[in-house]
Amino acid sequence: MSTLLQSPLAQQEGIAPYLVQRLQKELNIFTIGDLVTHYPLRHEDRTQLHKIATITQEQALVQVQGKLTSTRLVGQGRGMRLVANLEDATGTLELVWFQRLAWAQKQLKVGEDYVVAGRVSAYKTSFNMVHPELTKAAKFAIGDSLSPVYPATAKVPAKTLLALMRRFLPQALREVQENLPEELRVRYRLWGRQEAWQHIHFPATAAALFEAKRRIKFEELFLLQLRLLRMRQQRIERHQGQVFADTSLQETFCQQHLPFTLTTAQARAVQEVSADVKKGVQMNRLLQGDVGSGKTMVAFLSMLVPIASGAQAALMAPTELLATQHYEKLHKYAQCMGLTVEVLTGGTKKAARRRLMDRLQLGMVDILVGTHALLEEGVQFKQLGLVVIDEQHRFGVEQRAKLWSKQGETPPHVLVMTATPIPRTLAMTAYGDLDSSVLDEMPQGRKPIKTSHCAETHRLRVFQFIREQLAEGRQAYIVYPLIEESSKLDYQDLMDGYESVCRAFPQVPVSIAHGRMGPEEKAYEMDRFVRGETKIMVATTVIEVGIDVPNATVMVIESADRFGLAQLHQLRGRVGRGAEQSYCILLTGYKLSKAARTRLQTMVGTSDGFVIANADLKLRGPGSLWGVQQSGMLRLKLADLQEDENILVVARKEA
Ligand code: ADP
Ligand code: MG
Repeated sequence: MSTLLQSPLAQQEGIAPYLVQRLQKELNIFTIGDLVTHYPLRHEDRTQLHKIATITQEQALVQVQGKLTSTRLVGQGRGMRLVANLEDATGTLELVWFQRLAWAQKQLKVGEDYVVAGRVSAYKTSFNMVHPELTKAAKFAIGDSLSPVYPATAKVPAKTLLALMRRFLPQALREVQENLPEELRVRYRLWGRQEAWQHIHFPATAAALFEAKRRIKFEELFLLQLRLLRMRQQRIERHQGQVFADTSLQETFCQQHLPFTLTTAQARAVQEVSADVKKGVQMNRLLQGDVGSGKTMVAFLSMLVPIASGAQAALMAPTELLATQHYEKLHKYAQCMGLTVEVLTGGTKKAARRRLMDRLQLGMVDILVGTHALLEEGVQFKQLGLVVIDEQHRFGVEQRAKLWSKQGETPPHVLVMTATPIPRTLAMTAYGDLDSSVLDEMPQGRKPIKTSHCAETHRLRVFQFIREQLAEGRQAYIVYPLIEESSKLDYQDLMDGYESVCRAFPQVPVSIAHGRMGPEEKAYEMDRFVRGETKIMVATTVIEVGIDVPNATVMVIESADRFGLAQLHQLRGRVGRGAEQSYCILLTGYKLSKAARTRLQTMVGTSDGFVIANADLKLRGPGSLWGVQQSGMLRLKLADLQEDENILVVARKEA
């Protein structure tokens, strides 16, 4: 970067200190470079002045010239607003301010001519314009057909940013240097950086704006991918990998003990891992697969390779319940191979823990399953060869690093399993430094879950349906939202719900599980349900991840509109795990927000986790997904992961 672009705005002539401060604090703009990469949100047509009689609500921008005829304060306290009338030859327009009334009042002089600009909305019988942009008519100059609109704040209005841009962009353009290789620019017909900067702010034509954006988006995504790939490269160079090439245990298990045939996707993932761990480079692989796609078996088969060479494996799960379930499953698989599996959680008693630690250090434990407890100081393996992390989004990058440090010089290989599929664009960015395996196929014989959306007022019919399923020997979940475990109202709903279920099903044993219960009590209730002693499980999202009860065929979700898509999908994934037809019933009231309606329609319309993940990304943006917000990698200025997938794919390839 040139020195001009790096020079602070604070050092420029004629820019007020308070403005410098606000730019820094509110928009993170420190230098001229920051300023000129503060791209417009959109462009609007400022070539027209409208007559009040002809304006409509549909116009994106209305500009009107007229005389200010009155101002008055209306309302009281927090509802107080400033209302002014602006008249031209054809009618009157109301201007309204809700904030900074004193400031607005000082600006406005009754009897003067102004040009106001903004959007109008119909109010009673006339139009009004809220927080208009205000210019004295004498000072007004007609604008361009593509005038930039900058992301602004209350204290740094778009108009100020426009003025700053007009002043500093020409200087910046003289200094800007190209940062993409010529060859790439030729191949993809990308504009030069200077041209792009000019036209993203002040485009000559709509086509020029498009090209400018394409160039800048490409640059942004390309540089991001370079950073990610460099991280990966550095890791490969820094960390040698333990070499495990003995697949004999894996083969024996597959030939003699595998309880089902692997799906093609599972077999491929196992191959990918097995190939990685013999390379002498530390593996960091992401295993993505929808709920029920069979990630556990892939994990187990992967573990058999290091174990065959005398090393150990660990599996880390986000909750105690999940750790226990994993333990039980792995124990069953491992037993027939004569391997030792142990479990370590926060609840493990001291004496038992000490014995376990001793055996672990001596290499007498082949697989250790556990919660975060695995990360604690005292947990030392003899030789940790592979770590599998389930339900990735609950663990941070730092925790991953902590696990590596458990294995001296040469870190263990790492396989990260996600709970929900990640949209391709996000996988390429948020997890762009990991290699990836995808289970894009379900085990055979699964019947798709039938999902319906139903009004709460029909709850009794839903109960009747549950009764029929129970009569056939099945089990059911009824889930309540308890978004914050401290929320009193939610808790009351849950308890009321539990009581009404008990009343509606007097002969049926019912379990309840929520975050306020002690871990032992909760585990006890869950366990009863898993073993089939209770038939209905009333719970909060504590059952969201991982719990596996193939006999459960009904998932009722109360107040389903309050859950996010990823969560709904996870919850639904608790049923449909056996051979029987399963059902998911989403209960809500009649009044729903548009976003909630879209979520419910998506759930009813598809059970494909990848489709749902994409819909979720569209609804909420990448920041809110799977803890990605911490990654900082996704602070893209212009590119949009949804819209610009094509550019992203090319940028990745070229990087
Ligand atoms: P998830 O990917 O959600 O962790 P699991 O590993 O818990 O899925 O597997 C879900 C269920 O499917 C388990 O009961 C498991 O035994 C079963 N399963 C896994 N792979 C297969 C397969 N290839 N064929 C049949 N059933 C399978
Ligand atoms: Mg799982």
